[in-house]
Amino acid sequence: MFESLTERLSRTLQHVTGQAKLTDENVRDSLREVRMALLEADVALSVVKDFIGRVRERALGQEVSQSLTPGQVFLRIVSDELTATMGAANEGLNLAAQPPAVILVAGLQGVGKTTSVAKLARWLQENSKKSVLVTSADVYRPAAIDQLKLLASEVGADFFPSSGSEKPVDIAKAAVQHARLQHKDVVIIDTAGRLHVDEQMMVEIRQLHSSVAPVETLFVVDAMTGQDAAVTARAFHEALPLTGVILTKVDGDARGGAALSVRSVTGKPIRFLGVGEKTQALEVFHPDRVASRILGMGDMLSLVEEAERKLDKKKADRLASKLKKGKKFDLEDFRDQLQQVKSMGGLEGLVDRLPGMGGGIPAMAQGLDDGKMFARMEAIISSMTPSERRFPAVLNGSRKRRIAAGSGTSIQDINRLVKQHGQMQKMMKKVSAKGGMTKMMRGLGMFKNKQAGRV
Ligand code: GDP
Ligand code: MG
Repeated sequence: MFESLTERLSRTLQHVTGQAKLTDENVRDSLREVRMALLEADVALSVVKDFIGRVRERALGQEVSQSLTPGQVFLRIVSDELTATMGAANEGLNLAAQPPAVILVAGLQGVGKTTSVAKLARWLQENSKKSVLVTSADVYRPAAIDQLKLLASEVGADFFPSSGSEKPVDIAKAAVQHARLQHKDVVIIDTAGRLHVDEQMMVEIRQLHSSVAPVETLFVVDAMTGQDAAVTARAFHEALPLTGVILTKVDGDARGGAALSVRSVTGKPIRFLGVGEKTQALEVFHPDRVASRILGMGDMLSLVEEAERKLDKKKADRLASKLKKGKKFDLEDFRDQLQQVKSMGGLEGLVDRLPGMGGGIPAMAQGLDDGKMFARMEAIISSMTPSERRFPAVLNGSRKRRIAAGSGTSIQDINRLVKQHGQMQKMMKKVSAKGGMTKMMRGLGMFKNKQAGRV
C-alpha cells in the first residue's frame, strides 16, 4: 500500500528532520520535494496546492522557530496536514435509522461494488452485531446477481433474490419490505455499474435512491485510478447525495493519489478501504493512521487491533504465564507463534505496518513466499520429538539429519530455524520482563504516536 509515495516522502522528510535549524531555504526545498512526491502519486493538483500552502504557512510560522526540534515539528506538521487532507477523524457509518437501515452502493463497473457489499455485510455482522440482508439491483448481468448470492452465503448474510426481468426499483423496494418483516437491522443494495458516467445510469441510481431513502449512499472507487477516482466521485455526488466513499484495491495501489484526493475533491469522507479480494479484506479508514503509514511510520494501532481480534487469547495468556514463571520459550511455543502470524496474513501483512518498514518489504521478507516458509518451519518442528522441542539444545548432527529426512528439508533449514528460535527466545525474555506481548505492541503504538503526532 502506497509504497512509492512512502518511499519518496520518507526520504525527503528524513533529510529535513535531521536538520537542527529550519531556514526559509530548506523549508522551500523540502516543500518542493514533497510537492513533487504528491504530484507523482497522482494527487489532484488543487489538493497538492492547498496542502503545500498549509504546511508552508505553519512551517514558516512561530510553531517551528520556537521549537527545539524544528525538523521533527516539520514532520508533525506534514503528518497533521496529511491527516486533515483525508478528513479529520473516521466518521463511521450512520445506521441510526428506523430499521432496516438501508445502504445503497454505487460506482462504475469493475471497481469492486459487489465484493464491497459482501465485505461490508461481513463487517457489520462481526463488528456491530447487525443482521444484514443483501440484494442485487444489477439486472443487466445475470452473473452479477449470482456473484452476490455466492458471496452472501460465504459471509452468512441473507440474500434477497432478484432476476434480470425485474426493475431495479422494484427489487430494492421488495428487499427493504422483506427485511422489515424479517426484522433485519441493515439492507445493502448492490447496483449496476457502467464503464463511464452516463445519463441513463444516473437516472436509474437517482430513482433507486429516492425509492428507498438510504441512510448511507456509499460510492465505491478503485484506488488504482488515482485522482480520476475523485473526479468520478464528484460527478456522482452531483447526481445523488453521497454520504461516503469506499476506496478499493488499495492493496495494489503504490501511489495513494486517490486516498489523498477524494476527501478534498468531493467533500465526502472515505469510510472503508478494500485491501484484497477476500471478504475480510476491509479496513475502517482512519486518516491519522493512513497518514502515518504514508510517512513510513507504520500503523501499529491497526496491527494491535487486528492482533487482538485474531490471536488466540488463551494461548497468549498461557505463554505469558509460562514465561513469567521463568520457563523458556520452546519450539512448541515457536510453532504456535508461527501459526498465529500465519493467521494474520503472513509476514507481508505485518511488515507493511511496522514503523520504518512501510514503502517496501525488507530484503528478509522480499520475494519469499512466507506461506511456504512457515509450512516448512512447522514441518521441521513437527518432525522433532517432544523432548527435542522442549530442549532444542540436544539437537546434534545425527538428530538434525533425522529431522531433515522426516520433514523433507535440509540441515541448513534446521540450523536456520534453531537460530531464529534462539532470537525469538531472547526477545520473548525481554518482552515478558516488561509485561507481555500486547503491552509491547501498545508501547510501540505509543511510540508511533509520539513520532507522528505529539512530538
Ligand atoms: P463491481 O463490478 O463493481 O461489482 O466489482 P466486483 O465486486 O465484481 O469486483 C471486480 C474485481 O475486483 C473482482 O475480481 C474483485 O475480486 C476485485 N476486487 C474488489 N475489491 C478488491 C480489493 O480491495 N482488492 C483487490 N485486490 N481486488 C479487489
Ligand atoms: Mg457487481
